[in-house]
Amino acid sequence: MSRTLMIKLALAVVIGLVVGVAGAQLYEHRHFDVPIVAGPGVTRVGRLSDYCPNLKGTIGDTNVFFLESSIPGGTALIIASTHPNEPCAGLTGFVYVENAIPEQGTLIVIPTFNNSASRGTWQGDGYPLYFAIETAWGEKTFRMGGRGASQVDQWPDPDVFVHYPEGQLLSYIDARNTNRTWPGRPDGLLTERVCYAAMELMRRESVDVAIDLHGAETMFPVTNCIVAHDKAIRIAAMASLTVKMQEKFANHVEPSPMSFHGLSHREIGDYSDAFPFLLEAPLPFLDQPTGPKTVELLLDGKDEFLLSLSRQKRLFVPYTEEGWPMEKRVGQHCSVTLEIFNQFSKKYPDRAIQISSVPKYADLVENGVGAYFHDPSEAAASCLYYE
Ligand SMILES: [Zn+2]
Repeated sequence: MSRTLMIKLALAVVIGLVVGVAGAQLYEHRHFDVPIVAGPGVTRVGRLSDYCPNLKGTIGDTNVFFLESSIPGGTALIIASTHPNEPCAGLTGFVYVENAIPEQGTLIVIPTFNNSASRGTWQGDGYPLYFAIETAWGEKTFRMGGRGASQVDQWPDPDVFVHYPEGQLLSYIDARNTNRTWPGRPDGLLTERVCYAAMELMRRESVDVAIDLHGAETMFPVTNCIVAHDKAIRIAAMASLTVKMQEKFANHVEPSPMSFHGLSHREIGDYSDAFPFLLEAPLPFLDQPTGPKTVELLLDGKDEFLLSLSRQKRLFVPYTEEGWPMEKRVGQHCSVTLEIFNQFSKKYPDRAIQISSVPKYADLVENGVGAYFHDPSEAAASCLYYE
């Protein structure tokens, strides 16, 4: 055998091993299901495909939890994990499903909105595949996802993504981003079908308030804020002022741009009767100039480079040695969502939405996120679902 052939064979073996090991890890991640314990407030569990048959049997289908009170009122929808690389959103969805009690009206929660994106990763940034949250009964492991649906599920990407129905030209990558494919269409791309199903859900279930949860870079101006559609801006402003006064954290209001299409806070307001809000919590992990993208950075948000930038006033949020821990991010999402329900109910008392037993900002900062997750091994089989 010639020397060149031996080198080629050795290289082929090495490449085969790398591809095999990485492929097995990604396969395992894609099929790793996270248990969620439906709490005492959950009255029924449906699927997103109930509102768009073209989603049935696809990886875009996902659980929809209904928490219905016996006292009539309005209906709210919480959409989490639009971007599964912003896990403060998904964790807030879990906290709601496992703890919330509807006192009046109905709450609907979709904990894993972009299921395909939650089962892939963001290539090239060295993301961890999993992270774990400490609880009293051990660690609860979650998948860390990507920003867009996996190319395994939606391929190929277009050269330019043409938004439906506005025809606005967007980046090719946004074809897989379920915060650019609203209001969607029933026979479109997987991501368009996911958004269409949620639009149909909002129209058929008469949703009054829709809240899309996110996390954003500390160097990005639209962070630590409530983005609101023009019809929802007064409620957003009142919620922002109230949490600042009563719970001592800032969350400013950003108006939804009128001419930027595909975003939840624009299209939900334009294509349904619901008042849409999008919440951004500061997420240092997503900032570009940080150290390695470790699980520690994801959970505590501590980074020396960001600290240095903060001293140079380059960040849009206050940032100290404390970082920006997960419990603060989930705490903000819980408190702001509750306050939006509260403000909406004051303005529209005949459509009031009252939710109890959800921890607020101070509770989460004191007890940690894990204090609000229930042990799946102790749960009745009828309460156990998988995300
Ligand atoms: Zn996001």
